[in-house]
Amino acid sequence: MRIPIIAANWKMHKDSQEAVDFVESLGEQLRADSVEAVVCPPHPLLGIIAEPCRTYGLKLGAQNMYWEEAGAFTGEVSPLLLKDIGVHYVIVGHSERRQLFGETDQHVARKAKAAFAHDLTPIICVGETQQERQSGQTMSVISEQVTVALTGLDPSQARKAVIAYEPVWAIGSGQAATGTDAAQVAQHIRKVLGEMFSLKLARDVRIQYGGSVKPDNIQEFMREPEIDGALVGGASLDADLFAGIVHNA
Ligand code: PGA
Repeated sequence: MRIPIIAANWKMHKDSQEAVDFVESLGEQLRADSVEAVVCPPHPLLGIIAEPCRTYGLKLGAQNMYWEEAGAFTGEVSPLLLKDIGVHYVIVGHSERRQLFGETDQHVARKAKAAFAHDLTPIICVGETQQERQSGQTMSVISEQVTVALTGLDPSQARKAVIAYEPVWAIGSGQAATGTDAAQVAQHIRKVLGEMFSLKLARDVRIQYGGSVKPDNIQEFMREPEIDGALVGGASLDADLFAGIVHNA
């Protein structure tokens, strides 16, 4: 049984008051939902919303981290610290990290490993660019990203990983993939996991879709048996909109 997981990726938005207001509003609206809801604020807000998130049964996620535990790494945040302040999930390899900050598949792999080493669950983002899609490379790009990111994980860890399929062209564009296309890629991800680990494990891993998800298109994705939730950017900034997505899921 794969429990659906809907995660809010605020990116570089919100201040402390807005963050607390959001969590309280979302928490009040979600009380009876059987979907796992995760809030991923900018790092300085993690500690501020940790307690209200706990109160409302919302999970706390970080948007990034480094793989070392401590040391001379100016500006970085360690998995130890994230764990210490109550974080459950950490997004790794978001396309903005890859495109703007030079993150590679190898970096993503180290981060995924470090997350599990500290009892954090990585949300591993993969996805093709518009150009890769147009030249028919979607499946090969996804195979490579998934394979490198999960190499070196124990099956017991890989089983718990969350994979977010986020086509780069769909992020922030208002142009979501179709449910059918996203499901095809999700199926392909399970095939890759099956070859790397086992068919059983491939069936256990949760796969999200991300890219212009809104309350009115979430069902198109959740209807697909291969898709177990969503990673939401723009529409996760408003508590009512995000609650609508979780409800409709
Ligand atoms: P979007 O972003 O929902 O604004 O398209 C998704 C993401 O970047 O995770």
